[in-house]
Parts: sequence; structure tokens; C-alpha cells
Amino acid sequence: MTHTATGKLPPHPDHADPAHDLAAENRALRARMAYLLEQAERNHSIMTRHQAFDLNIIGAANFPELIGTIFRVLPVISELDSVTLTLIDEDADIRTVMLKLDVVFADFPGLIFVETLDQLDLELGRRNAAVPAPKPLLGMYDKLRHAPSFPNAPAGLQSVALVPLMRNKRIIGSLNLGSCDPTRFTPSLGTDFIEHMASIIAICLENVISNEMLKYIGLTDSLTGVYNRRYIDRRLLEEIARARRQRYPISLMYIDVDHFKRVNDTVGHGGGDEVLREVAARIKNELRTSDALARFGGEEFVVLLIDANLESAAFVAERIRAGVAGSMIVLSPSLQLSVTVSIGVACLDVDAAEGEAALTARNLIERADGLLYDAKEGGRNRVVSFREPP
Ligand code: GH3
Ligand code: MG
Ligand code: MG
Repeated sequence: MTHTATGKLPPHPDHADPAHDLAAENRALRARMAYLLEQAERNHSIMTRHQAFDLNIIGAANFPELIGTIFRVLPVISELDSVTLTLIDEDADIRTVMLKLDVVFADFPGLIFVETLDQLDLELGRRNAAVPAPKPLLGMYDKLRHAPSFPNAPAGLQSVALVPLMRNKRIIGSLNLGSCDPTRFTPSLGTDFIEHMASIIAICLENVISNEMLKYIGLTDSLTGVYNRRYIDRRLLEEIARARRQRYPISLMYIDVDHFKRVNDTVGHGGGDEVLREVAARIKNELRTSDALARFGGEEFVVLLIDANLESAAFVAERIRAGVAGSMIVLSPSLQLSVTVSIGVACLDVDAAEGEAALTARNLIERADGLLYDAKEGGRNRVVSFREPP
């Protein structure tokens, strides 16, 4: 990776030779100067490109943007034939959060997740995890050994550099660089440049991952893991705008657990929490990935169904009702209870819907809530999707 003076220098003029032709010496000196100048220009251009790259990744707003920039730009500016990134993701937290934030991992075939440090191909890291700063591993590409770091290795890959990504003396992953030039990464090559680059990438990664985690925490309900009210409020505005543009219906369900006070009275608040988690899971079980489920507060949930008219939303609601009521919730072998939900379902008629999206959203939620009230009045454990004419 170090792009400093590569290749052989032209021979130094020999001052000791008295018969040396002054003109020839002059020519040789000029050639040498031209060569050094060319190298300096080349290095300057590499530095400039890398500085631009650094600014680019420092400015990345989110995880896909950062990863996308690394995979797109780094091979070009560093003249590499393969760039991959391995991240340690012990409990799949990163993957879970990114998926929840709609990151499409298929877009990044060079992104690899491993569970533990041992799975990284960093010898120093493996031998002694306490080594403060393991060095990059440079050498010939070995198809078998390097397959985990280069799952889609291009034909003709010859030499590789596996560079640890460090944050606060902790290895968070590795940046894997591959070249078809066998002399590109040799064990004797200086690694200052790639280490510097890896440290910037590591900072950016940590930064963007923390930001995404915060975003996720701000949009999810910590008890059940489903979205929270803030998420639905925001998503609803986007979906109303999209539904109007593309002319498809969206529906909203308001779900409330029946007699939940009694549940708490019977199994305690902790047991009640457990019941809420199970109810959320049962609701989710009946939904498509395009639908959004949120806990709206207490024992109330809202489901947003995309491209679903009132009839199909009511059908899904009925499945949810049956799914919750269908079997006992088991809190422990000796403690099981039966829980039911009531559901109000309202649909946004995109042809009729006009006016401000925020007002339309509020109106949709209020209608579903009103129908939920009817379901409660009607005896609970039921779905109401339209109001009987008075
Ligand atoms: P209804 O069938 O009319 O909905 O009766 P309900 O008892 O479910 O109605 P209500 O809304 O009055 O009671 C909701 C209860 O939910 C009261 C509150 O203590 C409980 N609750 C709210 N949030 C939580 C929570 O996070 N965990 C637990 N365990 N209970 C909660
Ligand atoms: Mg309630
Ligand atoms: Mg209730």
C-alpha cells in the first residue's frame, strides 16, 4: 500500500570517474530529477486522493453510506483488486440493528461478519489478544487460508494485507486488501500508511455504528423490541405520502390487550411484561416484512399495513386476534394464562385522502382507536373494521 518511490532509481552519476563526460552527467542528473519529480507528483496525487477519501468517509451519514464509500472508492484510489471488511459482531447486534434500519446486506458482498476475534485471520490477535496493537499481516494470497476474508476473490489475486481495525485497544474487525500484483504486499513492506488508513476507517465505523444504534434505540420499544410510537408517527407520514403518489391503500390497526390490569394483578408486573413480549411476538408472527408494528404505550399496539385495503387488513387482524387467543401464554411450567386482544381497523382511502399528511395520520389513528372502542364495547376479543350505521 505504501506508494512511496517504487521501482529502481536511475544510476547515480559517477563523480569519481575523471573521464566522465559532463554532458552525460548532466543528462543523468536531469533524468534522476525528472524521476524524483514524477514520484513526488505521484505520491502527492495519492495523498490528495486519500485525503478526499478520508473526508468522504468521515462525512458518511450512516452505515450503508460509509461501507458503500469504502468498497467503491478504496479499490480505485489504492489500485486494489479486492477490498473486504470483516467486523466482529458477537451477539449479532450490529446485524440486527442494521436490518431493522433497512440496511440491505446483499448490496455489500464484501462485508463479512464474524462472532469472535478468533475468526479473524490476524495471527497476532489470535496468539495474544492482549497485544496492544497487532500489526497488519502482509503476504502471498493463499486461497484456502484467505477464503473467509476474501469470499469472492477475483481471479488472479496474488498478495494480501489483513489490517486490524482497532478502537480503544480493542480489535473491532479487519480491513482486507488484495492485489493481483504479487509484490504489492510483502512482509517486508512498511505498514504505516495502511495502519493510518485503517485507524481512520475504524473510527468512522465505530462512530457510524454507535449513531445507528442510537437511532435504533430512539425508534424501538425496549420492552418488546418492536418499534415505538415515534417511529410509527414518522413512518406514517412517509407512507401516507407514498400511498398517495403511488395510489395504493394503507391500513392501520389499533390493538389493546383485554383486561390487562387483571393480568398484572394475577401474575405481577414482571409477568405482565412477559405477556406483553409474547403478545408482540404473536402479532408480529402474522405480519409481512413491509408492515410495521409498534408498541404505542402500555398494553396498546399499532400495526401499519402497506398496500392493504380494509378487507385484507381486517383479515390479518382476525388472524392476530385468533393467534393471541388461540393458546395459553406460558410464563413458567406452573403459570399459564389466556390473554385476548381487541382490534380496531381503519383504512386510508388514498383517492379521498387530501390535506396535510399529519392531519390525515392523526385522523387515521383516531378512527382505528374509535373502532377499538367499539370492539371493547362489543365484548372484547374481537375485530371491528367498520362502524354500524346508527
Ligand atoms: P381493557 O380491556 O378495557 O383494555 O382493560 P385494561 O385493564 O387492559 O385497561 P387499562 O387500559 O385500564 O389498563 C391497562 C393496564 O396496563 C394498566 C397498567 O398498569 C398496565 N400497564 C401499562 N404499561 C405496562 C407495562 O409496561 N407493563 C405492565 N406489566 N403493565 C403495564
Ligand atoms: Mg389500554
Ligand atoms: Mg387494555
